[in-house]
Amino acid sequence: MDYLSIEELVNASNGHLVSKSEEVTSINELVIDSRLANKNNVFFAIIGESLDGHKFINSAIENGCKTIIKNKNNNLEIIGDDVNIIEVENTEFALGDISRYYKNKFDIPYIGVTGSVGKTSTRDMVYAAVSSKYKTLKNTGNLNNQFGVPLTLANLDKSYECAVIEMGMSGFNEIEYLVNIVNPQIGVISNIGLSHVERLGSREGIFKAKMEITTNFDENSTLIVNGDDDMLATLKGKELNYKLKTFGFEKDNTIYCVDFEMNDSDTTFNVMIDNKIEKFYIPTVGEHNIYNAMAAILVGQTLGISLDKIRDGLENLEITKSRMDVIKTDNYTVIDSVYNASVDSMRAALKVLNRYENRKVAVLGDMFEMGSFAEAGHREVGKDASQNADVLIAVGKDARFMVEEAIENGMNKENTHYFETKEEAIENFKDILQKGDAILVKASRGMHLEEVVEFLSK
Ligand code: ATP
Ligand code: MG
Repeated sequence: MDYLSIEELVNASNGHLVSKSEEVTSINELVIDSRLANKNNVFFAIIGESLDGHKFINSAIENGCKTIIKNKNNNLEIIGDDVNIIEVENTEFALGDISRYYKNKFDIPYIGVTGSVGKTSTRDMVYAAVSSKYKTLKNTGNLNNQFGVPLTLANLDKSYECAVIEMGMSGFNEIEYLVNIVNPQIGVISNIGLSHVERLGSREGIFKAKMEITTNFDENSTLIVNGDDDMLATLKGKELNYKLKTFGFEKDNTIYCVDFEMNDSDTTFNVMIDNKIEKFYIPTVGEHNIYNAMAAILVGQTLGISLDKIRDGLENLEITKSRMDVIKTDNYTVIDSVYNASVDSMRAALKVLNRYENRKVAVLGDMFEMGSFAEAGHREVGKDASQNADVLIAVGKDARFMVEEAIENGMNKENTHYFETKEEAIENFKDILQKGDAILVKASRGMHLEEVVEFLSK
Protein backbone atom coordinates (compact mmCIF):
# COMPACT_ATOMS: atom_id res chain seq x y z
CA MET A 1 0.00 0.00 0.00
CA ASP A 2 1.16 3.53 -0.75
CA TYR A 3 1.06 6.05 2.07
CA LEU A 4 -2.23 7.76 2.96
CA SER A 5 -2.18 10.92 5.05
CA ILE A 6 -4.27 11.20 8.21
CA GLU A 7 -6.15 13.98 6.46
CA GLU A 8 -7.04 11.62 3.61
CA LEU A 9 -8.31 9.05 6.13
CA VAL A 10 -10.48 11.69 7.78
CA ASN A 11 -11.92 12.98 4.53
CA ALA A 12 -12.50 9.60 2.92
CA SER A 13 -14.28 8.27 6.00
CA ASN A 14 -16.25 11.44 6.68
CA GLY A 15 -14.79 11.31 10.17
CA HIS A 16 -13.55 13.71 12.82
CA LEU A 17 -10.01 13.89 14.09
CA VAL A 18 -10.53 14.20 17.84
CA SER A 19 -6.90 13.64 18.85
CA LYS A 20 -3.76 14.24 16.82
CA SER A 21 -0.31 12.69 16.84
CA GLU A 22 2.66 15.00 16.28
CA GLU A 23 4.79 12.09 15.23
CA VAL A 24 2.65 10.09 12.77
CA THR A 25 1.05 11.91 9.83
CA SER A 26 0.51 9.03 7.39
CA ILE A 27 -0.02 5.26 7.32
CA ASN A 28 0.59 2.51 4.75
CA GLU A 29 -1.58 -0.38 5.92
CA LEU A 30 -5.16 -1.01 7.09
CA VAL A 31 -5.67 -3.51 9.92
CA ILE A 32 -8.67 -4.79 11.86
CA ASP A 33 -6.68 -7.15 14.12
CA SER A 34 -5.04 -5.30 17.04
CA ARG A 35 -2.24 -7.88 17.12
CA LEU A 36 -1.11 -6.64 13.70
CA ALA A 37 -1.37 -2.97 14.66
CA ASN A 38 1.82 -0.92 14.56
CA LYS A 39 3.15 2.58 14.08
CA ASN A 40 2.75 2.51 10.29
CA ASN A 41 -0.83 1.31 10.08
CA VAL A 42 -4.33 2.32 11.08
CA PHE A 43 -6.41 0.12 13.36
CA PHE A 44 -10.15 -0.02 12.64
CA ALA A 45 -12.19 -0.96 15.73
CA ILE A 46 -14.75 -3.21 14.02
CA ILE A 47 -17.76 -4.63 15.80
CA GLY A 48 -17.88 -8.28 14.73
CA GLU A 49 -20.29 -11.10 15.46
CA SER A 50 -18.62 -12.13 18.69
CA LEU A 51 -16.01 -9.44 19.43
CA ASP A 52 -16.05 -5.67 19.65
CA GLY A 53 -12.81 -4.23 18.27
CA HIS A 54 -13.18 -1.19 20.52
CA LYS A 55 -12.08 -3.42 23.40
CA PHE A 56 -8.72 -3.81 21.66
CA ILE A 57 -7.94 -0.17 20.92
CA ASN A 58 -5.64 0.19 23.90
CA SER A 59 -3.76 -2.99 23.10
CA ALA A 60 -3.30 -1.71 19.53
CA ILE A 61 -1.83 1.46 21.02
CA GLU A 62 0.38 -0.62 23.31
CA ASN A 63 1.66 -2.34 20.15
CA GLY A 64 2.83 1.06 18.95
CA CYS A 65 -0.15 1.96 16.78
CA LYS A 66 -0.64 5.70 16.46
CA THR A 67 -3.78 5.85 14.32
CA ILE A 68 -7.18 4.54 15.40
CA ILE A 69 -10.57 4.68 13.73
CA LYS A 70 -13.43 4.17 16.17
CA ASN A 71 -17.16 4.66 16.41
CA LYS A 72 -18.26 8.08 17.64
CA ASN A 73 -20.68 6.60 20.14
CA ASN A 74 -18.04 4.52 21.91
CA ASN A 75 -16.72 6.13 25.10
CA LEU A 76 -13.67 4.02 25.79
CA GLU A 77 -10.94 5.79 27.77
CA ILE A 78 -7.91 5.84 25.51
CA ILE A 79 -4.38 5.59 26.87
CA GLY A 80 -1.69 7.94 25.55
CA ASP A 81 -2.14 11.37 23.97
CA ASP A 82 0.18 11.26 20.97
CA VAL A 83 -2.37 9.22 18.96
CA ASN A 84 -4.52 10.06 15.92
CA ILE A 85 -8.09 9.23 16.84
CA ILE A 86 -10.62 9.43 14.03
CA GLU A 87 -14.26 9.09 15.05
CA VAL A 88 -16.79 7.87 12.49
CA GLU A 89 -20.44 6.81 12.48
CA ASN A 90 -19.59 3.22 11.60
CA THR A 91 -16.10 1.75 11.39
CA GLU A 92 -17.15 -1.04 9.00
CA PHE A 93 -18.37 1.51 6.46
CA ALA A 94 -15.27 3.67 7.10
CA LEU A 95 -13.12 0.69 6.11
CA GLY A 96 -15.09 0.37 2.88
CA ASP A 97 -15.00 4.12 2.20
CA ILE A 98 -11.25 4.42 2.74
CA SER A 99 -10.50 1.40 0.60
CA ARG A 100 -12.74 2.78 -2.17
CA TYR A 101 -10.94 6.12 -1.96
CA TYR A 102 -7.55 4.39 -2.12
CA LYS A 103 -8.57 2.02 -4.91
CA ASN A 104 -9.80 4.93 -7.03
CA LYS A 105 -6.20 6.15 -7.26
CA PHE A 106 -5.49 3.19 -9.52
CA ASP A 107 -7.22 3.32 -12.88
CA ILE A 108 -6.90 -0.34 -13.88
CA PRO A 109 -9.43 -3.01 -14.94
CA TYR A 110 -11.28 -4.49 -11.96
CA ILE A 111 -12.90 -7.90 -12.28
CA GLY A 112 -15.48 -9.11 -9.75
CA VAL A 113 -16.09 -12.84 -9.34
CA THR A 114 -19.12 -14.24 -7.58
CA GLY A 115 -21.34 -17.35 -7.72
CA SER A 116 -22.58 -20.07 -5.41
CA VAL A 117 -19.60 -22.38 -5.77
CA GLY A 118 -16.29 -22.02 -7.51
CA LYS A 119 -15.54 -18.37 -6.76
CA THR A 120 -12.03 -18.98 -5.46
CA SER A 121 -11.26 -21.56 -8.16
CA THR A 122 -12.55 -19.22 -10.87
CA ARG A 123 -10.69 -16.27 -9.38
CA ASP A 124 -7.49 -18.32 -9.39
CA MET A 125 -8.08 -19.25 -13.04
CA VAL A 126 -8.78 -15.64 -14.03
CA TYR A 127 -5.64 -14.63 -12.14
CA ALA A 128 -3.64 -17.25 -14.05
CA ALA A 129 -5.00 -16.19 -17.44
CA VAL A 130 -4.67 -12.46 -16.87
CA SER A 131 -1.38 -12.38 -15.00
CA SER A 132 0.30 -13.89 -18.06
CA LYS A 133 0.09 -10.36 -19.42
CA TYR A 134 -0.70 -7.99 -16.54
CA LYS A 135 0.58 -7.80 -13.00
CA THR A 136 -2.61 -8.70 -11.16
CA LEU A 137 -3.89 -8.36 -7.61
CA LYS A 138 -6.19 -11.02 -6.15
CA ASN A 139 -7.72 -11.62 -2.72
CA THR A 140 -5.49 -13.28 -0.21
CA GLY A 141 -6.99 -16.67 0.70
CA ASN A 142 -10.75 -16.43 0.92
CA LEU A 143 -10.93 -12.79 2.07
CA ASN A 144 -14.10 -12.10 0.10
CA ASN A 145 -16.47 -10.24 2.43
CA GLN A 146 -17.05 -6.67 3.66
CA PHE A 147 -13.74 -6.80 5.53
CA GLY A 148 -11.67 -9.01 3.25
CA VAL A 149 -12.37 -7.09 0.05
CA PRO A 150 -11.33 -3.67 1.44
CA LEU A 151 -8.25 -5.19 3.07
CA THR A 152 -7.36 -6.83 -0.25
CA LEU A 153 -7.70 -3.56 -2.19
CA ALA A 154 -5.35 -1.91 0.29
CA ASN A 155 -2.60 -4.12 -1.18
CA LEU A 156 -2.75 -2.21 -4.47
CA ASP A 157 0.16 -0.06 -5.53
CA LYS A 158 1.37 1.58 -8.73
CA SER A 159 2.88 -1.65 -10.02
CA TYR A 160 -0.51 -3.39 -10.45
CA GLU A 161 -2.17 -3.43 -13.86
CA CYS A 162 -5.33 -5.37 -13.03
CA ALA A 163 -7.27 -6.71 -10.03
CA VAL A 164 -9.49 -9.78 -9.74
CA ILE A 165 -11.65 -9.71 -6.65
CA GLU A 166 -13.72 -12.60 -5.33
CA MET A 167 -16.96 -11.43 -3.75
CA GLY A 168 -18.86 -13.63 -1.34
CA MET A 169 -22.26 -13.15 0.18
CA SER A 170 -24.79 -14.78 2.43
CA GLY A 171 -27.70 -12.39 1.95
CA PHE A 172 -29.16 -9.63 -0.19
CA ASN A 173 -27.29 -6.31 -0.72
CA GLU A 174 -23.92 -7.76 0.27
CA ILE A 175 -22.61 -8.03 -3.31
CA GLU A 176 -24.03 -4.57 -3.97
CA TYR A 177 -22.05 -3.23 -1.02
CA LEU A 178 -18.85 -4.78 -2.37
CA VAL A 179 -19.57 -3.66 -5.92
CA ASN A 180 -19.92 -0.09 -4.70
CA ILE A 181 -16.38 -0.36 -3.37
CA VAL A 182 -14.71 -2.30 -6.19
CA ASN A 183 -16.79 -1.01 -9.11
CA PRO A 184 -15.79 -3.85 -11.44
CA GLN A 185 -16.21 -3.36 -15.18
CA ILE A 186 -16.14 -7.12 -15.71
CA GLY A 187 -18.31 -9.40 -13.57
CA VAL A 188 -18.25 -13.20 -13.49
CA ILE A 189 -20.98 -15.44 -12.05
CA SER A 190 -19.86 -19.06 -11.80
CA ASN A 191 -23.30 -20.54 -11.13
CA ILE A 192 -26.47 -20.31 -9.07
CA GLY A 193 -26.63 -23.13 -6.56
CA LEU A 194 -28.11 -23.58 -3.16
CA SER A 195 -25.42 -22.16 -0.83
CA HIS A 196 -26.95 -19.82 1.76
CA VAL A 197 -30.44 -20.68 0.56
CA GLU A 198 -31.44 -20.46 4.22
CA ARG A 199 -31.19 -16.69 4.09
CA LEU A 200 -32.23 -16.10 0.51
CA GLY A 201 -35.34 -18.23 0.41
CA SER A 202 -34.96 -19.81 -3.01
CA ARG A 203 -32.70 -20.21 -6.01
CA GLU A 204 -34.50 -17.25 -7.58
CA GLY A 205 -33.44 -15.25 -4.52
CA ILE A 206 -29.85 -16.40 -4.90
CA PHE A 207 -29.92 -15.47 -8.60
CA LYS A 208 -31.20 -12.01 -7.78
CA ALA A 209 -28.54 -11.50 -5.11
CA LYS A 210 -25.70 -12.59 -7.44
CA MET A 211 -26.99 -10.27 -10.16
CA GLU A 212 -26.18 -7.36 -7.84
CA ILE A 213 -22.75 -7.62 -9.45
CA THR A 214 -24.23 -5.64 -12.38
CA THR A 215 -25.39 -2.78 -10.09
CA ASN A 216 -23.13 -0.13 -11.63
CA PHE A 217 -22.82 -1.67 -15.09
CA ASP A 218 -23.11 0.35 -18.30
CA GLU A 219 -22.54 -0.35 -22.00
CA ASN A 220 -18.79 -0.67 -21.41
CA SER A 221 -19.26 -3.40 -18.79
CA THR A 222 -19.25 -7.13 -19.45
CA LEU A 223 -21.04 -9.85 -17.54
CA ILE A 224 -19.57 -13.34 -17.98
CA VAL A 225 -21.75 -16.24 -16.84
CA ASN A 226 -22.14 -19.99 -16.98
CA GLY A 227 -24.70 -20.28 -19.77
CA ASP A 228 -25.50 -23.92 -18.95
CA ASP A 229 -26.89 -22.89 -15.57
CA ASP A 230 -30.67 -22.81 -16.02
CA MET A 231 -31.05 -19.57 -14.05
CA LEU A 232 -28.17 -17.73 -15.72
CA ALA A 233 -29.28 -19.03 -19.13
CA THR A 234 -32.40 -16.87 -18.83
CA LEU A 235 -30.15 -13.87 -19.50
CA LYS A 236 -29.44 -15.06 -23.06
CA GLY A 237 -31.31 -13.05 -25.64
CA LYS A 238 -32.52 -10.53 -23.07
CA GLU A 239 -32.08 -6.85 -23.74
CA LEU A 240 -29.39 -5.71 -21.30
CA ASN A 241 -27.59 -2.41 -20.77
CA TYR A 242 -24.22 -4.21 -20.70
CA LYS A 243 -22.43 -6.88 -22.73
CA LEU A 244 -23.14 -10.53 -21.93
CA LYS A 245 -20.75 -13.42 -22.66
CA THR A 246 -21.54 -17.00 -21.73
CA PHE A 247 -19.57 -20.22 -21.43
CA GLY A 248 -20.55 -23.86 -21.03
CA PHE A 249 -20.85 -27.14 -22.89
CA GLU A 250 -24.08 -26.16 -24.69
CA LYS A 251 -23.56 -24.87 -28.22
CA ASP A 252 -25.59 -21.70 -27.72
CA ASN A 253 -22.86 -20.18 -25.53
CA THR A 254 -20.36 -17.52 -26.64
CA ILE A 255 -17.65 -20.13 -26.15
CA TYR A 256 -18.25 -23.81 -25.44
CA CYS A 257 -16.27 -26.91 -24.62
CA VAL A 258 -16.34 -29.43 -27.48
CA ASP A 259 -14.53 -32.31 -25.77
CA PHE A 260 -11.96 -33.02 -23.11
CA GLU A 261 -9.52 -35.60 -21.84
CA MET A 262 -9.08 -35.90 -18.09
CA ASN A 263 -6.14 -37.68 -16.47
CA ASP A 264 -5.49 -38.37 -12.79
CA SER A 265 -4.45 -34.82 -12.07
CA ASP A 266 -4.79 -32.73 -15.23
CA THR A 267 -7.17 -31.98 -18.08
CA THR A 268 -6.86 -31.09 -21.76
CA PHE A 269 -9.94 -29.58 -23.36
CA ASN A 270 -11.06 -28.10 -26.66
CA VAL A 271 -13.13 -24.94 -26.78
CA MET A 272 -15.03 -23.47 -29.72
CA ILE A 273 -14.05 -19.82 -29.89
CA ASP A 274 -15.13 -17.68 -32.85
CA ASN A 275 -15.80 -20.80 -34.95
CA LYS A 276 -12.37 -22.23 -34.27
CA ILE A 277 -11.41 -25.07 -31.97
CA GLU A 278 -8.78 -24.01 -29.44
CA LYS A 279 -6.94 -26.42 -27.17
CA PHE A 280 -6.22 -25.70 -23.48
CA TYR A 281 -4.55 -27.52 -20.61
CA ILE A 282 -5.13 -27.12 -16.87
CA PRO A 283 -3.15 -28.89 -14.14
CA THR A 284 -6.32 -29.92 -12.27
CA VAL A 285 -9.35 -32.16 -12.71
CA GLY A 286 -13.13 -31.92 -12.82
CA GLU A 287 -15.59 -30.77 -15.43
CA HIS A 288 -16.42 -27.91 -13.09
CA ASN A 289 -12.86 -26.68 -13.51
CA ILE A 290 -13.31 -26.63 -17.30
CA TYR A 291 -16.22 -24.27 -16.67
CA ASN A 292 -14.08 -22.13 -14.37
CA ALA A 293 -11.30 -22.06 -16.96
CA MET A 294 -13.70 -20.99 -19.70
CA ALA A 295 -14.79 -18.07 -17.50
CA ALA A 296 -11.12 -17.11 -17.31
CA ILE A 297 -10.72 -17.38 -21.09
CA LEU A 298 -13.61 -14.96 -21.61
CA VAL A 299 -12.20 -12.51 -19.06
CA GLY A 300 -8.82 -12.66 -20.80
CA GLN A 301 -10.42 -12.06 -24.20
CA THR A 302 -12.47 -9.16 -22.85
CA LEU A 303 -9.21 -7.58 -21.68
CA GLY A 304 -7.71 -8.09 -25.13
CA ILE A 305 -5.25 -10.76 -24.09
CA SER A 306 -4.26 -13.20 -26.85
CA LEU A 307 -5.41 -16.82 -26.62
CA ASP A 308 -1.78 -17.94 -26.57
CA LYS A 309 -1.07 -15.84 -23.49
CA ILE A 310 -4.27 -17.09 -21.83
CA ARG A 311 -3.25 -20.66 -22.67
CA ASP A 312 0.19 -20.13 -21.11
CA GLY A 313 -1.34 -18.65 -18.00
CA LEU A 314 -3.81 -21.49 -17.48
CA GLU A 315 -1.07 -24.06 -17.95
CA ASN A 316 0.73 -22.60 -14.96
CA LEU A 317 -2.37 -22.23 -12.86
CA GLU A 318 -2.16 -22.60 -9.09
CA ILE A 319 -5.42 -23.38 -7.30
CA THR A 320 -5.87 -22.45 -3.65
CA LYS A 321 -5.50 -25.56 -1.48
CA SER A 322 -8.05 -28.32 -0.78
CA ARG A 323 -10.53 -27.45 -3.52
CA MET A 324 -9.58 -30.40 -5.69
CA ASP A 325 -6.10 -31.64 -4.80
CA VAL A 326 -5.11 -35.12 -5.94
CA ILE A 327 -2.68 -36.76 -3.51
CA LYS A 328 -1.03 -40.06 -4.47
CA THR A 329 0.19 -42.19 -1.58
CA ASP A 330 1.61 -45.73 -1.60
CA ASN A 331 -1.86 -47.10 -0.83
CA TYR A 332 -4.44 -44.68 -2.14
CA THR A 333 -5.30 -41.86 -4.50
CA VAL A 334 -6.83 -39.21 -2.24
CA ILE A 335 -8.96 -36.41 -3.69
CA ASP A 336 -8.74 -33.66 -1.11
CA SER A 337 -11.74 -31.36 -1.37
CA VAL A 338 -12.17 -30.70 2.34
CA TYR A 339 -12.16 -26.92 1.98
CA ASN A 340 -15.96 -26.83 1.92
CA ALA A 341 -19.08 -28.47 0.55
CA SER A 342 -22.51 -27.73 -0.81
CA VAL A 343 -24.86 -29.92 -2.86
CA ASP A 344 -23.43 -28.50 -6.08
CA SER A 345 -19.78 -28.93 -5.20
CA MET A 346 -20.44 -32.44 -3.80
CA ARG A 347 -21.97 -33.40 -7.12
CA ALA A 348 -19.05 -31.90 -9.05
CA ALA A 349 -16.58 -33.79 -6.86
CA LEU A 350 -18.44 -37.11 -7.14
CA LYS A 351 -18.31 -36.72 -10.91
CA VAL A 352 -14.53 -36.44 -10.61
CA LEU A 353 -14.37 -39.56 -8.42
CA ASN A 354 -16.46 -41.49 -10.92
CA ARG A 355 -13.76 -41.11 -13.56
CA TYR A 356 -11.23 -43.22 -11.66
CA GLU A 357 -10.71 -46.85 -12.67
CA ASN A 358 -9.90 -47.79 -9.05
CA ARG A 359 -12.48 -48.81 -6.48
CA LYS A 360 -14.18 -45.53 -5.68
CA VAL A 361 -14.73 -44.51 -2.07
CA ALA A 362 -16.60 -41.33 -1.08
CA VAL A 363 -15.92 -40.07 2.45
CA LEU A 364 -18.58 -37.39 2.74
CA GLY A 365 -19.46 -35.29 5.75
CA ASP A 366 -22.25 -32.92 6.71
CA MET A 367 -23.03 -29.82 4.68
CA PHE A 368 -23.93 -26.84 6.86
CA GLU A 369 -26.14 -23.78 6.47
CA MET A 370 -28.88 -25.56 4.55
CA GLY A 371 -31.78 -24.78 6.87
CA SER A 372 -34.97 -26.55 5.85
CA PHE A 373 -33.22 -27.92 2.73
CA ALA A 374 -30.82 -29.95 4.85
CA GLU A 375 -32.50 -33.34 4.64
CA ALA A 376 -33.34 -33.03 0.95
CA GLY A 377 -29.83 -31.79 0.15
CA HIS A 378 -28.10 -34.62 1.96
CA ARG A 379 -30.43 -37.12 0.30
CA GLU A 380 -29.61 -35.68 -3.12
CA VAL A 381 -25.91 -36.14 -2.45
CA GLY A 382 -26.55 -39.69 -1.18
CA LYS A 383 -28.32 -40.55 -4.41
CA ASP A 384 -25.46 -39.08 -6.40
CA ALA A 385 -22.97 -41.07 -4.33
CA SER A 386 -24.83 -44.29 -5.10
CA GLN A 387 -24.34 -43.57 -8.80
CA ASN A 388 -20.74 -42.41 -8.69
CA ALA A 389 -19.02 -44.32 -5.87
CA ASP A 390 -18.60 -47.99 -4.96
CA VAL A 391 -18.37 -47.31 -1.23
CA LEU A 392 -19.93 -44.50 0.80
CA ILE A 393 -18.56 -43.48 4.19
CA ALA A 394 -20.84 -40.80 5.64
CA VAL A 395 -19.72 -38.74 8.62
CA GLY A 396 -21.71 -36.38 10.83
CA LYS A 397 -25.33 -35.81 11.72
CA ASP A 398 -27.29 -35.16 8.53
CA ALA A 399 -24.91 -37.44 6.64
CA ARG A 400 -27.07 -40.36 7.76
CA PHE A 401 -29.63 -39.20 5.15
CA MET A 402 -26.97 -39.74 2.50
CA VAL A 403 -26.63 -43.37 3.50
CA GLU A 404 -30.40 -43.92 3.63
CA GLU A 405 -30.85 -42.46 0.18
CA ALA A 406 -27.85 -44.29 -1.29
CA ILE A 407 -29.35 -47.63 -0.17
CA GLU A 408 -32.75 -46.53 -1.42
CA ASN A 409 -31.13 -45.99 -4.83
CA GLY A 410 -29.61 -49.42 -5.04
CA MET A 411 -26.27 -49.11 -3.27
CA ASN A 412 -25.44 -52.36 -1.49
CA LYS A 413 -25.89 -51.87 2.27
CA GLU A 414 -22.49 -53.48 2.98
CA ASN A 415 -20.89 -50.75 0.92
CA THR A 416 -22.34 -47.97 3.04
CA HIS A 417 -20.96 -46.91 6.40
CA TYR A 418 -22.23 -44.26 8.77
CA PHE A 419 -20.22 -42.66 11.58
CA GLU A 420 -21.21 -39.80 13.80
CA THR A 421 -17.65 -38.49 14.11
CA LYS A 422 -14.56 -38.41 11.93
CA GLU A 423 -12.59 -40.09 14.74
CA GLU A 424 -14.89 -43.12 14.56
CA ALA A 425 -14.59 -43.15 10.79
CA ILE A 426 -10.79 -43.07 10.95
CA GLU A 427 -10.77 -45.92 13.47
CA ASN A 428 -12.78 -48.07 11.09
CA PHE A 429 -10.89 -47.25 7.89
CA LYS A 430 -8.65 -50.31 8.25
CA ASP A 431 -11.68 -52.60 7.87
CA ILE A 432 -13.20 -50.69 4.97
CA LEU A 433 -10.42 -49.32 2.78
CA GLN A 434 -8.34 -51.37 0.36
CA LYS A 435 -4.99 -50.71 -1.25
CA GLY A 436 -5.53 -48.96 -4.58
CA ASP A 437 -8.74 -47.16 -3.60
CA ALA A 438 -9.51 -43.72 -5.01
CA ILE A 439 -10.92 -41.79 -2.05
CA LEU A 440 -12.81 -38.52 -2.25
CA VAL A 441 -12.91 -36.59 1.04
CA LYS A 442 -15.36 -33.71 1.27
CA ALA A 443 -17.59 -31.90 3.76
CA SER A 444 -18.35 -28.44 5.06
CA ARG A 445 -15.41 -26.54 6.50
CA GLY A 446 -16.60 -26.96 10.07
CA MET A 447 -16.38 -30.77 9.81
CA HIS A 448 -12.57 -30.52 9.62
CA LEU A 449 -12.15 -33.54 7.38
CA GLU A 450 -8.59 -32.35 6.71
CA GLU A 451 -7.80 -34.69 9.61
CA VAL A 452 -9.08 -37.56 7.48
CA VAL A 453 -6.89 -36.44 4.58
CA GLU A 454 -3.91 -36.18 6.92
CA PHE A 455 -4.56 -39.70 8.19
CA LEU A 456 -4.89 -41.13 4.69
CA SER A 457 -1.83 -39.30 3.37
CA LYS A 458 0.42 -40.75 6.07
P1 ATP B 1 -16.57 -19.96 -0.67
O1 ATP B 1 -18.03 -19.56 -0.73
O2 ATP B 1 -16.26 -20.78 0.53
O3 ATP B 1 -15.64 -18.81 -0.86
P2 ATP B 1 -16.02 -20.62 -3.41
O4 ATP B 1 -17.26 -20.20 -4.12
O5 ATP B 1 -14.87 -19.70 -3.43
O6 ATP B 1 -16.36 -21.01 -1.91
P3 ATP B 1 -14.20 -22.71 -4.23
O7 ATP B 1 -13.43 -22.54 -3.00
O8 ATP B 1 -13.58 -22.36 -5.52
O9 ATP B 1 -15.63 -22.01 -4.10
O10 ATP B 1 -14.67 -24.21 -4.34
C1 ATP B 1 -15.48 -24.80 -3.33
C2 ATP B 1 -15.75 -26.22 -3.73
O11 ATP B 1 -16.53 -26.29 -4.92
C3 ATP B 1 -14.48 -26.98 -4.02
O12 ATP B 1 -14.59 -28.21 -3.43
C4 ATP B 1 -14.41 -27.07 -5.53
O13 ATP B 1 -13.80 -28.24 -5.93
C5 ATP B 1 -15.86 -27.02 -5.95
N1 ATP B 1 -16.07 -26.24 -7.19
C6 ATP B 1 -15.22 -25.34 -7.73
N2 ATP B 1 -15.74 -24.80 -8.85
C7 ATP B 1 -16.97 -25.36 -9.03
C8 ATP B 1 -17.99 -25.22 -10.01
N3 ATP B 1 -17.87 -24.39 -11.05
N4 ATP B 1 -19.10 -26.01 -9.87
C9 ATP B 1 -19.23 -26.84 -8.84
N5 ATP B 1 -18.31 -27.04 -7.89
C10 ATP B 1 -17.16 -26.31 -7.97
MG1 MG C 1 -13.95 -18.72 -1.91
